[in-house]
Amino acid sequence: MNPATEPMFAKVLIANRGEIALRVARACRELGVATVAVHSVPDRDSAVVRFADESVQIGPAAPGKSYLNAAAILEAAQRTGADAVHPGYGFLSESPDFAEACEDLGIVLVGPPAGVMGRLGDKATARSLMHAAGLPLLPGGLDPLGPEEAAALAGRIGFPVIIKACAGGGGRGMQVVHDPDRFAEEFRRTQATAQMLFGDGRVYVEKYLSDARHVEVQVLCDGRGNAIHLGERDCTVQRRHQKLIEETPAPSLPPGLAEQMGASAVAGALAAGYVGAGTFEFLLAPDGEYYFMEVNCRIQVEHPVTEMVTGIDLVREQLRIAAGNPLDLEQDDVRLRGVALECRINAEDPANGFVPTPGLIEQFIPAGGPFVRVDTHVHAGYTVPPNYDSLLAKLVVWAPRRDEAIARMLRALSEFTVTGDRVRTTGDFLARVLDDDRFRGATHTTALVDELLRP
Ligand code: ADP
Repeated sequence: MNPATEPMFAKVLIANRGEIALRVARACRELGVATVAVHSVPDRDSAVVRFADESVQIGPAAPGKSYLNAAAILEAAQRTGADAVHPGYGFLSESPDFAEACEDLGIVLVGPPAGVMGRLGDKATARSLMHAAGLPLLPGGLDPLGPEEAAALAGRIGFPVIIKACAGGGGRGMQVVHDPDRFAEEFRRTQATAQMLFGDGRVYVEKYLSDARHVEVQVLCDGRGNAIHLGERDCTVQRRHQKLIEETPAPSLPPGLAEQMGASAVAGALAAGYVGAGTFEFLLAPDGEYYFMEVNCRIQVEHPVTEMVTGIDLVREQLRIAAGNPLDLEQDDVRLRGVALECRINAEDPANGFVPTPGLIEQFIPAGGPFVRVDTHVHAGYTVPPNYDSLLAKLVVWAPRRDEAIARMLRALSEFTVTGDRVRTTGDFLARVLDDDRFRGATHTTALVDELLRP
């Protein structure tokens, strides 16, 4: 259908901040959709506030009183007459309660329905669902377990194991256990951490793969039975289970594996009744076997690499689907071209345990040149507040081949300049990772960053 005549929202409220809020506002502007930016007090002069058509201050710096304050956000949506809310990533983006509250008010949440989000957001429930859909799982407990059952299970599947909070996310609420004698203590500790972080102490246990790669598949589903995948992303470069560098396609996969993982993700999405853009995360073992890990019910930080190789604007597709339009692509229409890499430039000090370094940015020179994309909300004179995550910018490059993409990223990183009294960034450290033989040869595992940091 002609995009100009298909159903679309009149006004979207963006319930987020930082680079992703600006990313969503840009997609809306291109679609002719009006935008409302909501913001905390320290974000009042932010780029998205200036870019959006309207803005509403929803609370003080503390996320619990602003970007996690569902009541204030929904009130702003009603007051401004927004017909949809885009939640970005993090904050309320995967909260079934928030999704339900939107549904109750007749406001469309850009994402899957609350019920789907609730089932997939719980790692244990998602495991059962995907097992039923025929996806391969790591040996582990399908259901939340008590301490004795869990210890017995850990013994059967063999150490190391990982204990995970059912409600966990963002790399938190997970504990790897190598020593059986420490299991009971770590189990109790993870339960307590899960209770504290997520208000839900349930945990489960699965086999820990110490030399794995993280490979995930992007899906798009229209809720009318049409589901496609847009290829995979390799997010193996991680520190403390948090991604630092992402790329697509996943390098040196055995022949046919990417297609097989794509088919698994589509089968899982259809089985779950998924709607919108979503990500199926898998672990890939050295023997080429892959295992379902979890589903992310939102746009992801690393979505631009997929956009670079497919030419598809994922936020635009999210909005089209949420507005009730069918997918206008079939699997065969998706063509993957070249290689894209993304580096997360965080305001952190790699020389000091990656502690966040908020503060005033005096000089900000983003990289440019051919096939370079910078998604950022930052500029010279901007003060990074201490209250939120430390992502300053996403540096994304495209090239026909992987070695060329690495060279281009190293060139772009060498241009990228952020200075300030206190602010440090992860840029130089990421250049070290890209230049490492294990990364260049694509033989690295999720342990690479630890290996590089070991004295
Ligand atoms: P979160 O929702 O907090 O991001 P995930 O379940 O996606 O948690 O896991 C984050 C990362 O932790 C993975 O990308 C992987 O590096 C590591 N991880 C999780 N489960 C396992 C496992 N069973 N074996 C090895 N690594 C794992």
